Amino acid sequence: MEYEPVIGLEVHSQLKTKTKIFCSCSTSFGAAPNTHTCPVCLGMPGVLPVLNKKVVDFTLRMAVATHCEINRESRFARKNYFYPDLPKGYQISQYELPIAQNGSIEIELNGQKKRIGITRIHMEEDAGKLTHDPDRPLTMVDFNRTGVPLMEIVSEPDIRSPEEAGAYLRQLRSIVRYLGISDGNMEEGSFRCDANVSIRPRGSGPFGTRAELKNLNSFKHVEKAISFEINRQKEILEDGGQVVQETRLWNPDKNRSSSMRGKEEAHDYRYFPDPDLLPLVIDDDWIDSIKTAIPELPDEKKNRFMDEYTLPSYDAELLISSRELANYFEACMKAFPNPKQTSNWIMGSLLGLLNARGMSIAESPISPENLSQLLKLIDQKVISGKIAKTVFEEMAQTGRPAKEIVAEKGLVQVTDESAIKSAVLTVLQQCSTEVDDYKNGKTKLFGFFVGQVMKETKGKANPKIVNEILKDLLENE
Ligand code: ADP
Ligand code: MG
Ligand code: ZN
Repeated sequence: MEYEPVIGLEVHSQLKTKTKIFCSCSTSFGAAPNTHTCPVCLGMPGVLPVLNKKVVDFTLRMAVATHCEINRESRFARKNYFYPDLPKGYQISQYELPIAQNGSIEIELNGQKKRIGITRIHMEEDAGKLTHDPDRPLTMVDFNRTGVPLMEIVSEPDIRSPEEAGAYLRQLRSIVRYLGISDGNMEEGSFRCDANVSIRPRGSGPFGTRAELKNLNSFKHVEKAISFEINRQKEILEDGGQVVQETRLWNPDKNRSSSMRGKEEAHDYRYFPDPDLLPLVIDDDWIDSIKTAIPELPDEKKNRFMDEYTLPSYDAELLISSRELANYFEACMKAFPNPKQTSNWIMGSLLGLLNARGMSIAESPISPENLSQLLKLIDQKVISGKIAKTVFEEMAQTGRPAKEIVAEKGLVQVTDESAIKSAVLTVLQQCSTEVDDYKNGKTKLFGFFVGQVMKETKGKANPKIVNEILKDLLENE
């Protein structure tokens, strides 16, 4: 029997506000434990939460960007449970009436486009952080994170493979980053994902029983954990067993998951509307102001790059992978509008350099103006492509403009035919044995001669002229 995986993701994205969702404590990361706390986020009696408007603004941006319906009236609810990182004994979240629902995003995998439905988006508060001492029977709690705003995005069970799950997550992350509402950093925990996985006989109707995978803190882990889960469920069904609904924990060191607990049901949490918070009402003006503030999103930018600059899909995809990189490319287009050549240098040399140094595009030692200047020098045949690589290295070290380096180091390309001819003659004299071999039919040696002439001219000879003169002298003498 052939099985088909069915996958739905729940993504928690930490919103980049300065203060927490229901109090004015700072959200900044890395402070001494329990210093960003107050009676509200510590859950003291008698305090009242006050909703941070920015959290709503940011969530609305996501709702608009993912084509969701926005509920004009939504509600906060209490999700009740005990855990030492949750001082109030309940988490304020949204339940029956989330801020947004019924949206979708488009993903692309191997050139195929596909829509993934978004069931709902809601706002909630984060819990604190527990640290277990490995040596002593001791657990420490840090409440700096309690009340940090989260946006939860729940997908429809529309995903059919680990790769699709990866593409969906990357697309979501790219959108939150473009919107400037979250860092989208999985390793640092500001972008977290739970994966729900079930399998069913391919093409058949009802879904199978799902397992929920937690602790997926990198794209690699998400894909690996889902693959593992699909195989685990296949084996159970093939042995005539039944999948049980449960929460499983992924262990990245062992490359396997283990059962954590039976799946809790919504009614276990005794959700009820939070009596401390009024219904959240959103009017047309608010939505309109959000719509006008939304920047060009990754998909639109990609399409525009393909149209306006006639770039292949691959190049456009890579260049729009962050807003900063796309801006860098467009700054280059202002200085030297040759899209494909610029894209090649960015994808090859520049990103290679930044990767090697662990730098972001914003930290690039080579400005868009300087990169364009270099490409212009190649285009005007002032320098050869080979010399350009040397100049690029120097620019990477010093951040100086291309022209300056070329002038100072005397790297201007030699196009003077008589100078090149004399270099060719020197080489042919030095390599008389090879010249004889060549004349006896070993024409493969042509490349060797070109190399020698380039060496003789320290790489500065125009290769096209070298080829012409060499051919002429070898064939006609
Ligand atoms: P819960 O909090 O109980 O996990 P949610 O509604 O927040 O419930 O999330 C359920 C997630 O599980 C959604 O992403 C949904 O698409 C997915 N899902 C629901 N049923 C299945 C199924 N049979 N197989 C795989 N995924 C499923
Ligand atoms: Mg869940
Ligand atoms: Zn506080």
